[in-house]
Amino acid sequence: MRLRPHARRDRPVSAAPRLSHRHGRRGRNRLAVGLWLALGLLAGCGGSSRLDPTLLLISLDGFRWDYRELAATPNLDSLAAEGVTARALIPVFPTTTFPNHYSIITGLYPENHGVIANTMFDPLLGDTFRLGDRETLADGRWYGGEPLWVTAQLQGRKSATIFWPGSEAEIKGVRPTYWLPYEHEMTHTERVNQILAQLDLPAESRPAFLTMYFPDVDDAGHSGSDSMLTAAIREVDSTLGELLRGLAARGIREATNIIIVSDHGMTAIDSSRIIVLDDYVDLSQAGVVDWTPVLALRPPAEVQEEIYAALKSAHPHMLVFRREELPPRLRYSSHYRVPPIVALADEGWTISSRAYLARNPPRPTGGAHGYDNRYASMRGIFIGSGPAFKRGLEVGAFQNVHLYALMCAILNLEPAPSDGSIDSVKALLD
Ligand code: AMP
Ligand code: ZN
Ligand code: ZN
Repeated sequence: MRLRPHARRDRPVSAAPRLSHRHGRRGRNRLAVGLWLALGLLAGCGGSSRLDPTLLLISLDGFRWDYRELAATPNLDSLAAEGVTARALIPVFPTTTFPNHYSIITGLYPENHGVIANTMFDPLLGDTFRLGDRETLADGRWYGGEPLWVTAQLQGRKSATIFWPGSEAEIKGVRPTYWLPYEHEMTHTERVNQILAQLDLPAESRPAFLTMYFPDVDDAGHSGSDSMLTAAIREVDSTLGELLRGLAARGIREATNIIIVSDHGMTAIDSSRIIVLDDYVDLSQAGVVDWTPVLALRPPAEVQEEIYAALKSAHPHMLVFRREELPPRLRYSSHYRVPPIVALADEGWTISSRAYLARNPPRPTGGAHGYDNRYASMRGIFIGSGPAFKRGLEVGAFQNVHLYALMCAILNLEPAPSDGSIDSVKALLD
């Protein structure tokens, strides 16, 4: 139980009957990867060579820009010393997982790629996207733009994702060469071994671009427990050590470009800072699509103005906007999925309802994110190391939408149009 109203239910549950029915569970995942690998060994279908640059993009969900100060992180430190570190990575709004991972991988702001939230309603599809719903997760219609694995494959390279938001869907008719349905509980060692096995493939089937994802620091950050947080930081760092040793044992550590990022940071929340929505509006009329800290409302047209008026000055720690009033700097509001009314909680505040709080009594402390991306607490990390990067360089904070152009440059790929630019980040490259 945690102080994070209306979010927990969106989490994929790896034991969910739907998942096991539709995609198989762990055993079937392993079998599928085994088959890919075997086919890859047999195929020899050309396209890349050992000389192609390799890039491994690793996301540590919720790793705030300053978390390296909280625990010993010898492996992150050695990557940083060998390469380039940014003071922080500036997320897009909203500062949540799917919008940010998808901005990192496409170079687009949410208003241009359409993944505007972890939970969103599409009025044209008449459907709701939720992280726990495998069917929508794997439906390419939710994902605009061109993820880097698509760019790579359209240009003859192979890719592998041991998870990345969007990687389960066919986008522009393409899926990663090797991918798996999301499995929160997959052990770190399994993730590392999968990636190493993919790097062991012969040149013609070996991926040039690979991603990994670790949810642990985000999970611990939400818990509000300092000891859980430091344990999670140590654990992901030691997993990176396992990975680096595996690369070194293969003699490919120096040749592999590694980028470590996080999607957003984390801030403290507590039970004294809760905005109870039904104190101000009738929830049965409000058309709530998403709750906190970005409240998305799609009420019936005839009550929209009434609901807006009731909420506008309802609470000193909640900013309420009509869609067209949202600040342009958020780069958010021009997508048609953004609902007519959006409210933002101030940093540290939670928007909830009586019914939710009755079922989930808030704990005294916890952690949350999703807030305005101008808050320093929402910033993540960036470390880049390998042959493409300068050595021992520290740079200022930069926006994560530039990473797509940076990664295309590292992989010698022609980038699709994006909101980022290589000029903003080329100083990182050797
Ligand atoms: P957030 O609270 O926005 O940081 O969301 C983090 C959660 O997103 C993780 O704990 C996972 O449950 C979920 N998640 C992350 N990546 C994926 C993915 N590729 N597919 C489905 N769910 C994911
Ligand atoms: Zn996240
Ligand atoms: Zn989170």
